[in-house]
Amino acid sequence: MPHCYEIAILGAGVAGLTAAYRLRDRDVVVLEADSHVGGRTLSESFDDGNWANYAAQYVSADKLKVIELADELGLELIPKGSHSAELRSAMTPEQQRDMGPWLERLEAEMANPRPADTPELDQVSVAEWLEGAPAHVHDFFEGWCGSLLFGSTMETSLYGLMLVWGDQRTSAFTTEPVPRSNRGETVFRGGTNTFTKALAKASGAEIRQGQTVTRVMRGNDFCTIETKNSDKTASIRARQVICALPGTIARQVIEGLPTEKAAALANIRYGRNIATPISILPEGQRGPDLVMVPSRHDAVYCSNGFVLKTPGDMDRDGGCFHCYIHDRYARVVWDDDPRSIQSGALQAFRAAFPHLVDRVSRIGFRRWENALPHYHPGRMADLAAFQASVGAVHFCGDYAWTSNMDGAARSGEAAAEHARAAL
Ligand SMILES: Cc1cc2nc3c(=O)[nH]c(=O)nc-3n(C[C@H](O)[C@H](O)[C@H](O)COP(=O)(O)OP(=O)(O)OC[C@H]3O[C@@H](n4cnc5c(N)ncnc54)[C@H](O)[C@@H]3O)c2cc1C
Repeated sequence: MPHCYEIAILGAGVAGLTAAYRLRDRDVVVLEADSHVGGRTLSESFDDGNWANYAAQYVSADKLKVIELADELGLELIPKGSHSAELRSAMTPEQQRDMGPWLERLEAEMANPRPADTPELDQVSVAEWLEGAPAHVHDFFEGWCGSLLFGSTMETSLYGLMLVWGDQRTSAFTTEPVPRSNRGETVFRGGTNTFTKALAKASGAEIRQGQTVTRVMRGNDFCTIETKNSDKTASIRARQVICALPGTIARQVIEGLPTEKAAALANIRYGRNIATPISILPEGQRGPDLVMVPSRHDAVYCSNGFVLKTPGDMDRDGGCFHCYIHDRYARVVWDDDPRSIQSGALQAFRAAFPHLVDRVSRIGFRRWENALPHYHPGRMADLAAFQASVGAVHFCGDYAWTSNMDGAARSGEAAAEHARAAL
């Protein structure tokens, strides 16, 4: 008889690895399609001690679960400035003049706690809520939803906007103080992947990379999970399954989902993102001559305004500008040659920081098809269905909590508890 694991975890992102870490006393296998662990916490470390993040970057002070795990794992979080404050400072004088009534309305909603699935918060898109606002006010919220949620104002509910308007992402309402760490906003020294790599190691789980899960069948005593690696297929058995895959993929691979669960998962949409982190050498050093190829003259190649960068003294130590293009602009260049997108990013960088251009040492590249689950209208009404276990299969991921590492970690912990209780 082939070995039957107690628990199989599908997907080695923050959610799956948090579950694996919390289940480190059990017989666990983790199946991961990619060649790296960490999913959307991918980063690259360099010999000079610097790093480039390709996805998740910062940990705001309310992300207590991530901070708790980082402390347990002995990882260093280093302070950085406030991301929201940096984005707010991009408001034009025209926007500052006309935003007042819309901010008052938004803050009034936030001062009136109601269930998250209240239709006037959850079913209404930001675009609808903004009806009648001047175009530049629409533009501001378009940029806000795009930068923080990789979605348009049509794809974001008013509830979603409330969640990301404050300087924390834990509660949509401002009436209760949100517990937070006194360390302020931070990043992981060495890159965000140090977090997930440490979780993977500390979990002690058997982690099989390059194994794409294609099908999960539920039986009476165990589940059968089919995987594919190049042309090779394999199957394993497990008594309990934790599905930590993106919601859209979970729907495709788990067989026999109840109608309500399948319908909820079908509603999920992910915003896209392209990351082109730009590494900088210390002052006085010169980078290689980077080959430039044509890029689109009217495309946006850095939509985060280069606000995310390695904290510390860039002149002394070098560092990285964690440049990315969120969904609205990523769509335009999505199919272009990576070198063209990297060249476009470098040109944008040159315009913003002409004095640093000679110090550029490398530009990374990564496309994210499933970058961030939208707070689509109706998401909060679907939340219970996202989180519901189906027999021996327990679901987690950032779509099932909040769209960030903390939400992913909390959902992974909850799934681990369900699986443990069911063993
Ligand atoms: C550009 C960018 C910037 C971000 N910035 C921040 C930030 O600053 N702060 C923050 O808190 N969050 C940020 N996030 C969000 C954060 O990265 C995610 O919320 C979190 O990492 C999601 O973790 P997860 O485990 O739910 O999903 P994932 O990390 O996506 O994990 C799912 C795993 O499943 C694997 N997989 C997929 N299909 C299969 C299959 N068929 N078989 C096997 N394995 C499969 C994937 O390869 C992946 O490893 C950012 C995301 C992006 C893309």
